[in-house]
Parts: sequence; structure tokens; C-alpha cells
Amino acid sequence: MAVVLVVNSGSSSFKYQLIEMQGERVLASGLVERIGEGTGRTEHVAGDEEFETRAQIPDHTTGFGLMLDAFAEHGPSLDVHAPVAVGHRVVHGGARFFEATEITDLVEINIDDLAVLAPLHNPGALQGIRAARTAFASIPHVAVFDTAFHQSMPPEAYTYALDRATAERHRIRRYGFHGTSHKFVSEAAAVHLGRPLTELKQIVFHLGNGASVTAIDGGRSVETSMGFTPLEGLVMGSRTGDLDPAILLHLQRRAQLTTDELDSLLNKKSGLIGLAGANDMRDLTARAEAGDDRAQLAIDVYTHRLRAYAGAYLAQLGGADVISFTAGVGENVPHIRESALRGLEFAGIRVDPNRNAAARRGEITRISADDSRVAVLVIPTDEEVEIARQALAVVS
Ligand code: ADP
Repeated sequence: MAVVLVVNSGSSSFKYQLIEMQGERVLASGLVERIGEGTGRTEHVAGDEEFETRAQIPDHTTGFGLMLDAFAEHGPSLDVHAPVAVGHRVVHGGARFFEATEITDLVEINIDDLAVLAPLHNPGALQGIRAARTAFASIPHVAVFDTAFHQSMPPEAYTYALDRATAERHRIRRYGFHGTSHKFVSEAAAVHLGRPLTELKQIVFHLGNGASVTAIDGGRSVETSMGFTPLEGLVMGSRTGDLDPAILLHLQRRAQLTTDELDSLLNKKSGLIGLAGANDMRDLTARAEAGDDRAQLAIDVYTHRLRAYAGAYLAQLGGADVISFTAGVGENVPHIRESALRGLEFAGIRVDPNRNAAARRGEITRISADDSRVAVLVIPTDEEVEIARQALAVVS
């Protein structure tokens, strides 16, 4: 029975899941964090039990050593459940990687080279890959890229109307992110509807702290809202999403903001946090219900943008067969789903209020009315399972 280890590494932490592939069941999961800082911490969950340790963790290699110790001490045994592959999440695959790829030294060099485009993400992933390739030297390692699913976009969707020479020199184009989730959800939607993926026009809203929406035609991404970086598109927990770029020039000239200050303003101090001082939709919903105008405006700006993208992608696809919501906000907040699709009855979209309110966590639920031409679904995403599936497919 095949088992795959999934690893998601950042520069100072990594998470892992050991997944048994036949039932897509998590055998164990865990976290190693504060690598390279004062005191590091590990967490290992096996069965119903959770084990925690604190220790100095100077680097990722030490972290993988601690992970192996946790498996040896608390189980499950990696001899009994020996992984056939390690699947690594890598944020940026640039225009080079259009599918999950077995990691070789050359692939590592390419991931390193792409750090120019993802300075906050690719270096950490690479540290995790190097350490994991040492810890699990006898099995193949596979890189699964957040960008790869969107490499099917046509040039008119991924090209910015920017001076061509400048764009080419600096590799500026739309890459798109959250691809692993969009792929997983669009495939789950097809299975749920019992229809071939190749026949479906889909729109998937991934609404977590980071948020993006993708238009998918026959299983292929044809348009997505995140762009050169994950900053573009929808309003997010702390990111602006779409913005007139001249605002940056204005702030540089008038407010003398530096590049780092602008970066932090756009990525960390804006979005729902910037509008209402909080990024958790539970808080914002409660405040809006209690009459807080700032919270209400933040929700209105958020859902206004969702509707704009729904309309745009319906136009790009020529209508849709299914629209899905996923991730923290998409799976848990009925009023956001309702507002996102309000006014789209003309396009055959009708959300049933009772089904929408009754959608249960962790289950695929159809929330559209029986007479809705477009099926509207809530689908729990599972990026780890998707990474494991793709890793297994590469090595099989
Ligand atoms: P990430 O992008 O960090 O993976 P998630 O997909 O976990 O994010 O989504 C996190 C966000 O989802 C939270 O900031 C919160 O706004 C929202 N969220 C999660 N659970 C709930 C819930 N039960 N009710 C309302 N909002 C929720």
C-alpha cells in the first residue's frame, strides 16, 4: 500500500504529513518551527495523540532528524509505512515548470534561480528539499509547484500590457498561485457532479487568508486572479489585491515611502486588516452584525470584488457549469458565498439560502437551488493530498 510523505517548508519551519494513498488517509502529521531561532519547537500528531518538544534547531537538517526521531518514538513506523516518495510544495515554478517534477540537482538549481521571483518562499523550500533528500536518500523527491496548474493560461491572459522588452528582461507576466488547491477542487467538483472534467466550465474561489479565483475550462486553468505575485486580484486578509499602480508612484513621491514600506503596506497592512483592523471573517461578521460600519464596509469591498471577478470569468468562459468555494472563508462563511453570487441570476446562478446556511464543515455540499443552471458547491480543499497524488503519479 503506497505511502507518500508531503513536506511544506519555509525558511524557519516545515510541516509534514504522512499519507496512505489508497484511502488518502493521514497516518501522521507534524510541524518543526523556529528553525535557526533561540528555541525551536516540534509537534507530531499520530492517531489521537499529540507530542511536543522544544530544542535548539539550528537548521533544516537537524529539523528532519527530529522528525525522524518523532516517528521512531511515537509512530507510525517508517519501516512499516515506508514512503515511496516525498512530495514538496514549492511556491514558484516560473514558466519552466508546468507540472510536478522529480527533483534532481538540476531541478534544485532551477528552483534556486526562481528565488528572484519568490524571495520569501523558494529559498525556504529549497532548504527543506536539501535536508529531506539527505534524510530520505533512497526514494524519489517530487516538487509540486503552486504556479504549475496555471501554465495552461493563454498568452492574452498571462501577458501584462507592459513594455515588452522590460517585461521579458525581468520575467514579468501573470504566473498565478494556489494552483494545487484550484486543481484539487476542480477535480473534486467533476467527481461530485459525476461529469467528465474535460466537459466542464468551472470557476473556483479559493478564499483563505490569501485568496484567488480561477477560471477552468475542461480541467485547464485559463485565467486566474493572482498575478506576477500573490498580491494581485481579490481583497485578502492583509493584502490589497487589485490597485491602481499609480497609487504606488504617488505614495513614493508624496509620502516618501520606501520600497520596503510599500511592500509592507500592500502585503501586511491592507486588505481586511487595513480596512477594519482584523482579518478574521468571524470577527468582522460579528462586528458588522452589531452595527460596526468599518467592518461592514470591509465586507462590502471584499464581496464587491468577488462579484466583479465572477462576472469577468463568466464572460471569459462563456458561462459556467459549476462554481466552487473553498478554504477558510469559502468553506465557512455562508453570507460571503451568498453576496459573491448575488445578482447573477441572469447567468443561471441561484444559491439556495437554506442549503447555503446548512453547508457542513469538511463535506462537499451543493448550495445551488434545484432550478439553478449552474451548480454551486462548497468543497473542502486538501493541498497535501493533491501534492501526494501528484508525487505518486510522477514516481509510478
Ligand atoms: P490560509 O490562507 O492561511 O491557509 P485559511 O484557508 O485557513 O487560510 O483561511 C483562514 C481564514 O479563514 C481566517 O482568517 C478566517 O477569516 C477564515 N475562517 C476560518 N474558519 C472560519 C470560520 N469558522 N468562520 C469564519 N471564518 C473562518
